[in-house]
Amino acid sequence: MGNLAMIVTTEELSRVSLAAAGSLITRPEILTKALLKGGTEEQKRKWLAPVSSGELMVGIAVTEPDVGSDVASVACRAEPAEVGGQKGYLINGSKAWCTFAGRANVLALLARTDPDSKLGAKGLSVLIVPKDPFDGHEFEMRQSSGGVLTGKADATPGYRGMHSFTLSFEDYFVPYENLVGEESGLNRGFYLQMNGFAAGRLQTGGRATGLAQAALEAAAAYTQDRRQFGRPLIDFQLTQYKLGRMAAHIQAARQMTYKAALAMDEDESISLQPAMAKLLACDIAVWTTQEGQLLHGGWGYAEEYPISRFVVDAQVLPIFEGVKPILELKVIARQLLAN
Ligand SMILES: Cc1cc2nc3c(=O)[nH]c(=O)nc-3n(C[C@H](O)[C@H](O)[C@H](O)COP(=O)(O)OP(=O)(O)OC[C@H]3O[C@@H](n4cnc5c(N)ncnc54)[C@H](O)[C@@H]3O)c2cc1C
Repeated sequence: MGNLAMIVTTEELSRVSLAAAGSLITRPEILTKALLKGGTEEQKRKWLAPVSSGELMVGIAVTEPDVGSDVASVACRAEPAEVGGQKGYLINGSKAWCTFAGRANVLALLARTDPDSKLGAKGLSVLIVPKDPFDGHEFEMRQSSGGVLTGKADATPGYRGMHSFTLSFEDYFVPYENLVGEESGLNRGFYLQMNGFAAGRLQTGGRATGLAQAALEAAAAYTQDRRQFGRPLIDFQLTQYKLGRMAAHIQAARQMTYKAALAMDEDESISLQPAMAKLLACDIAVWTTQEGQLLHGGWGYAEEYPISRFVVDAQVLPIFEGVKPILELKVIARQLLAN
């Protein structure tokens, strides 16, 4: 159906809950883009349909406790091994902030397949790591071969419907056919994953727009109900001015994200427009949710009102899918200066 349908769907889901619904598409989006770019025909046949239908839920495991924006420094290792007569890789190391890792059936793991750390981005590959789904905030997955994967969710003020896990892999076995691209994907994982990140950023533009729209609607409803000085808050011109500015900014975020979606339909390899849309839409979501909270006064700080959730959910948007300064400096400015 194309990127625009994906964005509109995401926007509508995020209007209700960024964490429980609006973010569900992000992880399969990133894995499927990596598979479409670099997967073998056999891998596309095996994974694309169940991942797209939601039969298999996905977690993305790139960030590590000591590695964030500098993705090329990923240290988690995948070493060739044969276990029970099967060729594959043994995974050892840690990952951080792996969202939805508990409930996920597979993790798209970026790991170092060439032990020479000086190779940086050129020594990394993407592996599809199967695991059992778990409810709750902690899990332990043991393989009969002795491999162990443990996960513990980090408590956060917002974005609570998802849960992001710190993971630890010890001799966790992954079969060779789960190396995305097999021989042709070996040590090319960084480039495959970067393509998926551009798609994730585009989607985050939709997530931010939906959340900002929710804040606008909540503020408009509240200010019509709430009375002070003998009048509904909406009668004060300052309230109308604020709502008008919020609506105009949200429309700008929406149109920029739609334009980036259409551009990505034309050319899957673009990254500038999705990064710009993500950057702008996330700032607008942070600002509009806070404006909406102010318009609720003290009740905007009460968990009873959804606006308090919108504020803490919005705060994560400029951090993930490329933290704001990295988008500004390394994705947007670098591309502008290169031309
Ligand atoms: C709720 C949540 C969910 C997440 N989900 C996932 C997930 O599912 N999978 C996953 O792999 N990751 C996930 N992440 C991780 C996220 O992508 C990272 O937090 C993000 O990439 C930033 O990395 P970092 O936190 O290590 O910050 P750092 O890279 O340590 O950056 C800290 C600060 O330093 C600044 N900085 C760093 N380098 C530079 C530079 N060169 N120039 C200027 N400033 C710089 C940054 O801009 C930032 O402000 C998630 C994070 C959160 C909070």
